[in-house]
Amino acid sequence: MTEAEIERLDREDPFAGRRADFAIPEGVIYLDGNSLGPPTRWAAERLRVTAVEEWGAKLIHGWSECGWMELPSRLGDRIAHLIGASPGTVVVADSTSVNLMKALAAALALQPFRRTILTEEGAFPTDGYIAQGLCRFLDRTRRVKAVRADAIEGALNDDTAVLLLTETCYRTARRHDLARLTAAAHAVGALTVWDLAHSAGAHPLDVTAAKADFAVGCGYKYLNGGPGAPAFIYVAPEHANAPAIIPGWMGHAEPFAFEGAYRPAPGATRMRTGTPDILSMRALEAGLDAFEGVDLEALRAKTMRLGDLFIAGVGERPGLTLLSPRDAAARGGHVAYAHTRAQAALEALRVRGVIADFRPPNVLRFGFAALYLSHRDVFEASQILRAVLSDLEDSSAA
Ligand SMILES: *Cc1c(COP(=O)(O)O)cnc(C)c1O
Repeated sequence: MTEAEIERLDREDPFAGRRADFAIPEGVIYLDGNSLGPPTRWAAERLRVTAVEEWGAKLIHGWSECGWMELPSRLGDRIAHLIGASPGTVVVADSTSVNLMKALAAALALQPFRRTILTEEGAFPTDGYIAQGLCRFLDRTRRVKAVRADAIEGALNDDTAVLLLTETCYRTARRHDLARLTAAAHAVGALTVWDLAHSAGAHPLDVTAAKADFAVGCGYKYLNGGPGAPAFIYVAPEHANAPAIIPGWMGHAEPFAFEGAYRPAPGATRMRTGTPDILSMRALEAGLDAFEGVDLEALRAKTMRLGDLFIAGVGERPGLTLLSPRDAAARGGHVAYAHTRAQAALEALRVRGVIADFRPPNVLRFGFAALYLSHRDVFEASQILRAVLSDLEDSSAA
C-alpha cells in the first residue's frame, strides 16, 4: 500500500470527521476498543451533569424528573437498532454474564423435555461457566456439550434444548452465520442464545431476520460505554412470556404498586432485575451517541478494510501466525495472531504508542473500531508491529 493510497482512503473515509468524537490520548494508536472502548469526548461532561445537576440538585426527584427509570429501555431501543431488533425487545441491565444466565434459564424453561445446551469449544469462558453453573443449579439431567465450531450443525439433535454461540469469537474474530445456525437449531426444535459481545457496534446484525430467540451483549466494548458498563439482553417477541429467573421488582409489571405477588412485565422488560445503575447508564448513553447517523454497512466495510490493511502491512514474520480468518467477510472487528513472544511484543508496542492486547498463552489481538481509527493509524501500527517483532527476533538471536 502506497502513501498516496492511504491518503486517498482517509480522504474518502465517511467516518473521518468522527475521530474528534473520542477522547484518545495524543500519540496513542488505540487498537483495543474491542476490549474496552474509549470515552466519547462528551462522556465526562455527561457524568458530571448526571452527578451534579441531576443527582445533586434533584435528589430523589431525579427518578421521576430526569428519565432515570426509563434509561434501561431507552438505551435498549438504541442498541436494538444496532442489532436489528424491534423497539421494546432489548433492555440494558446487569453484566453480560448475568444476562447470559437469564437468557439461558428462559430458553431452558421453554424446553422442559430436552437436556442439552450445545455450545462450542474455545468460547469466552464466562459463557461455559454460566451454562454449566445453571445446569448444576437446575437439576442433574441438564448438561452442557461443547463441540468444535465445524461440528456444531452435526451435533444438533432432538435432545438439544439450546444452541449457545458467540457470533464473533473473542480470540480469533471468526464469525458465525447467525441466520444459518439459528435456522439449523430451529430445524431440530432447539432455541438459540447468541452472545454478541464482540459483535454489537462492530458490524450490522439482524436478529429479527435471523429469528434469533435470545441474545446478550456487552456495553463496554464496541459500544464505548465505559469500564463495566451495563450489558444488554434481547428477547424475541415470540418469547415475550418466557420466565425471568431473577424476578426482581424492576421486572415487575408495576414495580411501584409494591404488590405481594410477582407479576412479570411484558417481554424484555421482565429481564430487568434491580434498580438501574444510572451513572454507568449515562456513560453508555454517551457512547451510543457516537452511533447516531452511522451507516452500519459503511462501518463494516471500513472495519474489513482496516483489518486487511493491517494483515497486509504486517506481512509474514518468523514465529508469527495469523489466527483470524484472512477473508475479511468471515472475520469480525479484530485480528489475532499467535507469536512465541506475544507478551514482550505487547509491551514493546505500548512503548511505541500502540495499545493492543494479549490473551494467554501467546495471542495478540488488534481491534479495528472504524469510528475513530484512520487508515494511516492502522498502517502505522502494522509497521510498528513489524519493527517490534524484528527487534525481538534480533534479541532472541543474540
Ligand atoms: C467480553 C465478553 C463477555 C463479558 O462478560 P461480562 O459479564 O460483561 O464480564 C462475555 N462474553 C463474551 C463473548 C465476551 O467477549
